[in-house]
Amino acid sequence: MNQHPPAAAIPAPQVAATTQHRPEKVVPPSPPLTIRDKERGWNYSRVGFLGEGGFARVFEVQDPKGIRKAVKVVSKASIKTKKNKTKLWAEIKLHQMLNHPHVVRFEDCFEDDENVYMMLELCENGSLMDLLKRRKRYTEPEARYYLVQLIAACQYMHQTNVIHRDLKLGNLFLDANMDVKVGDLGLAALIEKPGDRKKTICGTPNYIAPEVLFDTANGHSFEVDIWSVGVIMYTLLIGRPPFQTKDVKAIYKRIRENRYEFPQDKEISTSAQELIMSILNTDPEKRPTLEAILSHRWFLDGPFPAYIPASANDFAPDFR
Ligand code: ADP
Repeated sequence: MNQHPPAAAIPAPQVAATTQHRPEKVVPPSPPLTIRDKERGWNYSRVGFLGEGGFARVFEVQDPKGIRKAVKVVSKASIKTKKNKTKLWAEIKLHQMLNHPHVVRFEDCFEDDENVYMMLELCENGSLMDLLKRRKRYTEPEARYYLVQLIAACQYMHQTNVIHRDLKLGNLFLDANMDVKVGDLGLAALIEKPGDRKKTICGTPNYIAPEVLFDTANGHSFEVDIWSVGVIMYTLLIGRPPFQTKDVKAIYKRIRENRYEFPQDKEISTSAQELIMSILNTDPEKRPTLEAILSHRWFLDGPFPAYIPASANDFAPDFR
């Protein structure tokens, strides 16, 4: 949640509905240099700072075997209200349920007097957003590689009845092998009964699906993640999100009107444009399924890398 306003910053649209807010931001003191999991009797040494989001700070730590991990630290001061506690426990419960090669692994969770600690798989290469800032745009072969992994994670989450609801470049992390790991389950929702719909307005403005904002009576479901996949694909290839503009209200207006373009100075293939346009359908029922996206000809239209070299952190790799 670094570069975009957090969900709490989303102003309520015209239609009245329940709004989900992130807990209020309280800058907590740093956790101790040695973080102790009393139950296991394990000490983790804090070795670095990785980043901070809406309500958590993330540090790199080393476990007793010398294995490096990420720990997401939430200060208890920031979760004093019952509502905020419930949200944190929901994130923990949902993240703990998931086990997939392209979802950040949730390893353990414990607390001390000051903080709650979520021990996570370390993603050494930061997020796709960090990489975009350095590289400006991704090549089509790289986008194919990352999207296949993102879609695999989405298929898995949806089969597990979890909607992520905040898919964006800043929540797609890269491990040491430059493989995608979907993280930050802070806005995820569980569909408990088939056909259930969610009515809470949440997400990040640039990536939010139109039905979340404008069809609050009917609610939203798994298709909101598919919309975000379309926004992510556009952003990877063009270098900025399709509906991006000065203020949040204007972003929502463009989302409602489905107004975006493919700039002529940033040439991308016709099949990529075709696929993006089919995904960014305002009607969630007309959006392609994840399976249909994967069988689109764009995935076969050019090279598909066997892996992404670490040099891609700084330069466009040549896959010809
Ligand atoms: P929040 O839920 O508060 O938005 P995030 O989960 O997005 O927090 O994490 C905040 C930042 O911490 C991320 O933008 C990223 O820089 C870093 N981070 C989070 N998880 C990991 C991880 N598993 N490995 C490495 N860095 C991480």
